Amino acid sequence: MVQVDAINAFNDNYIWALVHPTKPHVYVVDPGDAEPVMHYLEQHDYQLAGILVTHHHWDHTTGVAALKQAYPEAPVYGPQNSPFTGIEHTLADGDSIDVFGLNFLVRATPGHTLDHISYINEQLVFCGDTLFSGGCGRLFEGTPEQMWQSMQTFLTLSDDTLVYCTHEYTQANMAFASAAQPEDAEVQRYTNKVNALREQQQMTLPSTIGQEKRINPFLRADKISPQALPTAYRPATSGEPSAIFAGLRAWKDNF
Ligand SMILES: [Zn+2]
Repeated sequence: MVQVDAINAFNDNYIWALVHPTKPHVYVVDPGDAEPVMHYLEQHDYQLAGILVTHHHWDHTTGVAALKQAYPEAPVYGPQNSPFTGIEHTLADGDSIDVFGLNFLVRATPGHTLDHISYINEQLVFCGDTLFSGGCGRLFEGTPEQMWQSMQTFLTLSDDTLVYCTHEYTQANMAFASAAQPEDAEVQRYTNKVNALREQQQMTLPSTIGQEKRINPFLRADKISPQALPTAYRPATSGEPSAIFAGLRAWKDNF
């Protein structure tokens, strides 16, 4: 199994560190802040071997320049259509990259931003701010249809794929998931588990694709009835999944 460590940043960001199986080398994903990454590297006597960027937001990219200065050899990968200018190796949908012998397929997952990509391996996915445990990213740049399409990318992955999202949003997401899926025993069970973890200030991630398929309303828009939505967010038409998805996302924005 690959070792992936969480480096805490800001209030609720995780900068994921992928550790080489035998060498003291590390890739980090979305270093919004260099300082906690430098601290982590020093603490473990690791070298930075590369950086993966999922999208341009400041809390995912601000640390790149300082890390690059400390580790000039470390390549920076990121989306080809990104407004973030620190990317050296641009990636498009369908590209693949090798990180310490692990193959990652790059898939465009727009919706939260238009440049958003996810890094998908058989065992794990780095999905940035597209998929969260129990939720999904806000639609800052894309349309609900784009984000629903991005959700399909995650739905095709095997159930045991580990889901590494960038934020610890699970507890708030599950409060919404419970409202959208009342009387769902699995949603209730997972909500209780997450509440207990957060009470102990423990991380709720990584999740798994199988877990998310069972509880995440944004992956289950095709299974949620329009009647489950408050009238203000209920689609006028009788319930295309993307319209239910749009209603769920708008409801969550005001939840
Ligand atoms: Zn973001």
